Amino acid sequence: MRTVGPSAARPEQIRRHNLSTLLRHLHLHGQVSRSELASLTGLNRSTIGGLVGDLVDLGVVSQRSPTRNSKGAGRPAYVVVARPRSVHVVAVDVDVDSVQVAAVGLGGDVLGRVRWQLHDGNRSATAVVDDVVPAIRQLTASLPHSHRVGIGASVPAMVADPSGLAVYAPNLDWSDEPFGELLGDRLNEPVLIGNDADLATLAEQRRGVAAGLRHVVCVLGRVGVGGGVIVDGHLLRGARGYAGELGHMSLQADGPLCHCGNHGCVEEYVGEAAILRSAREAGLEISALATLFEQAERGDAVAGEVVATAARWFGRGLANLANVLNPEAFVASGHLAEVLRVAEPSVREGLERGMVTIGRAPITLLQGGIRDASLVGAAELAFEELLAAPDLLGTPRPAS
Ligand SMILES: [Zn+2]
Repeated sequence: MRTVGPSAARPEQIRRHNLSTLLRHLHLHGQVSRSELASLTGLNRSTIGGLVGDLVDLGVVSQRSPTRNSKGAGRPAYVVVARPRSVHVVAVDVDVDSVQVAAVGLGGDVLGRVRWQLHDGNRSATAVVDDVVPAIRQLTASLPHSHRVGIGASVPAMVADPSGLAVYAPNLDWSDEPFGELLGDRLNEPVLIGNDADLATLAEQRRGVAAGLRHVVCVLGRVGVGGGVIVDGHLLRGARGYAGELGHMSLQADGPLCHCGNHGCVEEYVGEAAILRSAREAGLEISALATLFEQAERGDAVAGEVVATAARWFGRGLANLANVLNPEAFVASGHLAEVLRVAEPSVREGLERGMVTIGRAPITLLQGGIRDASLVGAAELAFEELLAAPDLLGTPRPAS
């Protein structure tokens, strides 16, 4: 990893870039010795010493005094560690049936959390904002010495870039709701919002099974099927922010009708409702996927075939994505992690049947499972401004 900017960059740009690299590393990986930081960044020890000193002055990291190695010989190792309560972000996760609001410290620890259920009376965008605002105030009051550096929100909706309009959230019955703006106006602070599956993908790539990978596709099975695409370390957003609707990739032009109006969408083969439907068609009296997976694992042939069929379709969908995107790994999460766990050979069978580059582009299949993934992703989104320019901490933000 090179951290020196282009030769034309001004010294303060180079310094910002290097501070950003260091703080990002400490945020994601916890404590690191100064010599490890030097080898990770390619910078010399005295430069690292100066940069760490700057981060200490900003209040966001601390250094532990040198500890001698076992025999007391050799150079003492300064350990650098992020100070979790020095700064925090607020992450909001609006799910289909509940809302979570959390204060998340530098390093990713949850410092406080408020959660409530959604019902018909409090599910509208304005009602959610009305409940989120006091929850944020309560969390902020509990952290009097911590500086808030951002607010990020996850919504189960298509989200337009860069306005943050929640365009379509079928499960909340929201349409064209300026959720981020409504919340930001109430708090007098900008709010970044993202699609829940995109943010879950970000969480898996920052802190989950795909940590550190540069080319990853995450497919998330919940009520619907969604996903996110990471290309060269960055979330793929597309021209308007709508990239990643993996559940509505059509596998069969004359397949079953999907609620989106198209036929044969991935969701119609591997979504929760679709798998339960094929279980019933196979004569199984099952109302929860967990029961189906359990029966398949116990060796029930009918349940096993229902799961294997879904797994082969899932593999087919992955093959299309592999042909277009050439990722290092796929992450299956939600109930699709279970499909992969129970029937990986069938997922691979579908993948290999549809993939033109098989053998030349080996792909790792991973079961995602980071807890509260969308919430974690919303926190990472909110930390981005600080991590990109740590030297601006505490300076007034330009009016947006
Ligand atoms: Zn569809």
